[in-house]
Amino acid sequence: MSQKQTPMIQQYLAEKEKQPDAFLFFRVGDFYEMFFEDAKKASQLLELTLTAKNKNTDNPIPMCGVPHHSVQSYIDTLVDQGYKVAICDQVETPQDTKEMLKREIVQVVTPGTKIDQERGENNYLTCIETSSQGYVLSYVDLGTGELQCTELETEEEVINECGQLQTKEVVRVHPLPTSLEEKLKERFSLIFSDHEAGEISRWSSLLENIVRPELRQCIADLLGYVADTQQCNLDHLQPAQYYQVDFYLQMDYYSKFNLELKKTIRTGKAEGTLFWLLNETKTAMGKRQLQRWIDRPLVKKAEIVARQEQVQILMDHYFERQRLVECFKGIYDLERLVSKVALGRVNARELGQLKQSLQYLPEIIDLLEEMEIPTVKHWKGYLPSLMELTDELEQALVEDLPLSTQEGGMIRKGYDATLDQYIEATENGVQWILELEAKEREKTGVKNLRIKFNNNSGYYIEVSKAAAKQITDERYIKKQTLANSERFSTVELKDLEKVLLEAKTKRIEREYELFVTLREKVKAQGPWLQRVAEEIATLDVLQSFAVLAEERNYCRPTFNEEHELKIIDGRHPVIEKVMGSNEYVPNDIVMDKNTYELLITGPNMSGKSTYMRQLALTVIMAQMGSFVPASQAKLPLFDQIFTRIGASDDLYSGKSTFMVEMMEASEALRKATPDSLLLFDELGRGTATFDGMALAQAIIEYIQQRVKAKTLFSTHYHELTVLADQFSEIKNIHVSAKEENGQLIFLHKMQPGAASQSYGIEVARLAQLPEELLIRAEAILQELESKEMTSTVVDTVQETKQENIDSSKEDTMSTVDMVAEEQLSLFQEEEEKVPDFCQELEQLDLMQTTPLDALLLLHRWQKEWRER
Ligand code: ADP
Ligand code: MG
Repeated sequence: MSQKQTPMIQQYLAEKEKQPDAFLFFRVGDFYEMFFEDAKKASQLLELTLTAKNKNTDNPIPMCGVPHHSVQSYIDTLVDQGYKVAICDQVETPQDTKEMLKREIVQVVTPGTKIDQERGENNYLTCIETSSQGYVLSYVDLGTGELQCTELETEEEVINECGQLQTKEVVRVHPLPTSLEEKLKERFSLIFSDHEAGEISRWSSLLENIVRPELRQCIADLLGYVADTQQCNLDHLQPAQYYQVDFYLQMDYYSKFNLELKKTIRTGKAEGTLFWLLNETKTAMGKRQLQRWIDRPLVKKAEIVARQEQVQILMDHYFERQRLVECFKGIYDLERLVSKVALGRVNARELGQLKQSLQYLPEIIDLLEEMEIPTVKHWKGYLPSLMELTDELEQALVEDLPLSTQEGGMIRKGYDATLDQYIEATENGVQWILELEAKEREKTGVKNLRIKFNNNSGYYIEVSKAAAKQITDERYIKKQTLANSERFSTVELKDLEKVLLEAKTKRIEREYELFVTLREKVKAQGPWLQRVAEEIATLDVLQSFAVLAEERNYCRPTFNEEHELKIIDGRHPVIEKVMGSNEYVPNDIVMDKNTYELLITGPNMSGKSTYMRQLALTVIMAQMGSFVPASQAKLPLFDQIFTRIGASDDLYSGKSTFMVEMMEASEALRKATPDSLLLFDELGRGTATFDGMALAQAIIEYIQQRVKAKTLFSTHYHELTVLADQFSEIKNIHVSAKEENGQLIFLHKMQPGAASQSYGIEVARLAQLPEELLIRAEAILQELESKEMTSTVVDTVQETKQENIDSSKEDTMSTVDMVAEEQLSLFQEEEEKVPDFCQELEQLDLMQTTPLDALLLLHRWQKEWRER
């Protein structure tokens, strides 16, 4: 087909071949055009009119286009939907002599390489590879220059990490296991971008800190893709950092999801999340830093305490803090500006923003010194060179900067002598034109003679039709005749025009040169600027913590290695904020070093789930270095948090099955250590009473004997509360409620001991069920409590389980399996007790039964039951 095509279409096809999976935006004049399939698809996605090139031939080519000045929004629309866009520009300026302009792909914008994110968001491009130990993963944020890598063992860990990074694009050199790829695509709807292996030697300066060859290769692969798509150098990237997931408090993807750290389950928005609560940051860098800290709370006491100390200082210096916040408000996104500078994609206005931001540095440093914040020494060193840069920018840039770098108007008069000449020429030019106009009026005697300018014809003299007759001057050369006027030119005007246009072009060129020089000077300070940005980000988060601690009466937690947990007057920080501190009922959470588990019982809606989440959020905040919602908090340092929320808690809205719940529980039990925090909310609710209860009990015992992690276990199986009598490591607590004026009031107050089992009957009484019925219910309950199957079941399961644990070193699942098996045989025993008529009842075909038959059957069954 391409032989028949015009040279331009041939050129198009050659470029398209280089990026077959991207929309090719092909620059033609003032438009970016798309052809063929791209045009058809893009016209739908972007709501553009689909036309055709060579419409009237037998070979029409589908085509659509967008104006070059608004191309960005079209690119964003496509990329946000997970597509890639290759921008193919004219790489030489139009000249009359040549027919075909050279065009090249200058950049491929992909979901993972987009840098114009929403304020305060990261955009991570990831590369995942299998390795001898499992997996290696590297990621980069092109907009901020952050580059990191890690090793992961299991598929689950890879999924967790991708979930945490919210990566939208994964570079793939070799295929990953199909199951992993499918899970990643399904859960995060990310795209895979295939690319060839990268060269390690090309990136040696960024790989200094990385030793393992597999990690180095993974980073080289990642960067190779970035370099190819961006077609520019990547000077702003920071040397790769290695991290391990256990450098931080670990939480799997579902736990984070359940705890609503950054998005709520219902709306997917930030409002109502921990991030929403904590975010008092004022800068885009601070906002990103806060999100990173939420994802990765610390585990080392010294690091946490160092943050706490700065929060304390900021709290103790109210006025200095206010001034610091005022400075932060004026600071733009330095990290992103530095990246744009390095990528050569910064405009004049953004350089102005950089200048404005840097002007706050001296004051910030003064304030930090006044408060004696120790980290100030890190960055004081680079202040002089940054101030020099700021001065230079100040002298060079005008106040009101244009977006474009191609139209001049960026540089101040007096900054550059050469430029000043051109500026003078252009400015004087206006005067010269006015003078010439006056002179010509006088010479011709035409009062309404005007000298005008337009882009097509340049300068010209315009006189009205009537007055034109008066002009006999032979210097006047007719240019154009319009309905009401005539346009002329003169040699003098032509000469003047030449001078003026030349001055204008030269001015623009010179300004651009100076702009590039300035940009390079900024670029040279890039590493310092990144350090400053990092420090400001951290301080911004810390001041945010200080504001919160002060406004919401949080306390500074202490940490111990003795596994002691004592929170006095704890609150769920988000619910407290939503409902107000007067409404929220504070609760203590106390677990001494020998208490592993708290079994929480209480009616629905009494506050069990809230209490559990409250603990998780308190721990996360504490290990981020924040103060916590309590009047006193003494905490162990946790290594991992697992939360398992029961199926009917409507959080999974029907998606969760009992199997999923068990798989999650299994994972938690396998990975948890005595330093972990486990939250099991109504586990086993999703199944028939007996196996659910049996499994719940087995899990509680397994934790008590094997895992020894601090565990909160809320349950509606009241029978389980007897476990607290048997094991000193397990304690009961319950949520109290009371009746007031016939209304049931939840006090949301945790009390020691198990909830009263007759609770449901009390509620029923409030609902005014017949008294006779209630008395009967109480009798049945007593019977059940005194002997009967429930406790037998519990005991039997208990014993079997005990043997299993003692006699074998089976892993969790098999222990649980055995208990389940035992459970089956119990059910069989149960079945023998079931009266015969039950079987009959089950098999009865109601459609074939007359009312009379039914009555007779009922009568017989009643008799059998009574005589039993
Ligand atoms: P449960 O898990 O026992 O069914 P939840 O923890 O879901 O109960 O709490 C139900 C509602 O009670 C919550 O939505 C919350 O508004 C309120 N609540 C829970 N704990 C408290 C508390 N300590 N103070 C005030 N209101 C609370
Ligand atoms: Mg609940």
